[in-house]
Amino acid sequence: MPPTSLQSSGIVLQPELPICQTDLPLDWYQAEFKPYAEEYLALPDRKPSTVLPWLDSYVKPAQTHFGDALMLVAHFYMGGEIVKLVERYGGSVADSYQLALQAARHPEKKVIVESAVHFMAEAIAILAHADQQVWITNPKAGCTMEMLAKDWMVLPTAEQLIERYGDELVVVAYMNTGGRLKALAGRTGGAVCTSSNAHKVVKWALDRKKKVFFVPDQHLGRNTARKLGLDPTRVVALPDPQIGRGALKLDERSVAGGFAALDRAQMILWGAFCGVHTVFEPRHVQYWKDRGYTVLVHPESKVEVVEVADGEGSTNFLWDAVMKAPRGAKLAIGTEGHFVRNAREQGKQRGVEIVHLADIPDPAYRSMGCGCATMSRNDPPHLAGMLDLLRKGVAPDANRVLAGDMVDETTGVRDRLDESDRAAMIADARASLERMIAITEAK
Ligand code: SF4
Repeated sequence: MPPTSLQSSGIVLQPELPICQTDLPLDWYQAEFKPYAEEYLALPDRKPSTVLPWLDSYVKPAQTHFGDALMLVAHFYMGGEIVKLVERYGGSVADSYQLALQAARHPEKKVIVESAVHFMAEAIAILAHADQQVWITNPKAGCTMEMLAKDWMVLPTAEQLIERYGDELVVVAYMNTGGRLKALAGRTGGAVCTSSNAHKVVKWALDRKKKVFFVPDQHLGRNTARKLGLDPTRVVALPDPQIGRGALKLDERSVAGGFAALDRAQMILWGAFCGVHTVFEPRHVQYWKDRGYTVLVHPESKVEVVEVADGEGSTNFLWDAVMKAPRGAKLAIGTEGHFVRNAREQGKQRGVEIVHLADIPDPAYRSMGCGCATMSRNDPPHLAGMLDLLRKGVAPDANRVLAGDMVDETTGVRDRLDESDRAAMIADARASLERMIAITEAK
């Protein structure tokens, strides 16, 4: 069952640790945010004793202005110290599933400010009440996996599959999708899933003799099939969406094995992936195992990595493993770099050694773990600016998040649905989210 309430990450802002948020180039900021970035860049250092008074001068007046109506949220994968800063101001840090529930579970919160990626803010907006507003501190903070599965890329393929398989086909949409794909799942009688419940949702569909079109992550799809013991020859991945962007036409040549393979398939996987989680290789797992480490990985990793690891699971599973590890334990974790860095700090306080699976101190491996760069596009100036502009009533509309918004993370250009299309989209997307909850919470 997915977690149903927020938990504190327990991450503590150490007084003398530098706030090492990477400085973004000034021309990356929206015009309204540039003054805050200029002030931030002019600070003499990144020490909490310097940054916090500056940040306080914007965050605290906004908190006084909005009172209990304001809610700050961030994701575990946030770079720099944003996670710690959001917690310092009474905000909450969670995974994408928990974030999605925030507005719905806290109707008293009217202004929700999210420091994470756009699909997460949009998921909050889908479930929000009509009088709640969702804002993202940087609308260009996207998920590279979701960027490989925009609705205009996936829908033509989905239509071809629906035409061929009719009601037999259901779409299962990973949480890392825009609302329009969650709505597609709802329209086909499918459901949303997370990395912790994907196996339950896919099993639910297969038990009903359905053929699953799994979007967008091919690796989570493969790992889910493995967990369920499916015949790998009946799991067909579509080509990398970067090839012929948005122009995949299913035919005998574009799909390995052609229509015969699709007809036999129990799962058809969209070909997107996460660049952060696909750097891991089986030899990384072996390296740490040989040195006495327990290796745990996220299921967005390649199946051959999951096969040789000691365990796999969602962000919450990994965090729990860190928190429950006995003193003296050694864990190598294969997931996003900022998460592992925060886990390492936590582990250190409890006598648990944590390393990043790809951080191998042997030049022969030429390997280094990475953080989610797009998520890290939220930084202290974005947080300060967002709250200050909201307090003054002049927040740019580009930062407002409505269900169905589709943002090009490179240009920042947004496509917004009209009101009636948005209402229909919300109904379908909510149906797919509610189906997920019903499936995962069923006895
Ligand atoms: S870590 Fe990967 S899947 Fe997660 S938000 Fe970043 S790009 Fe997307």
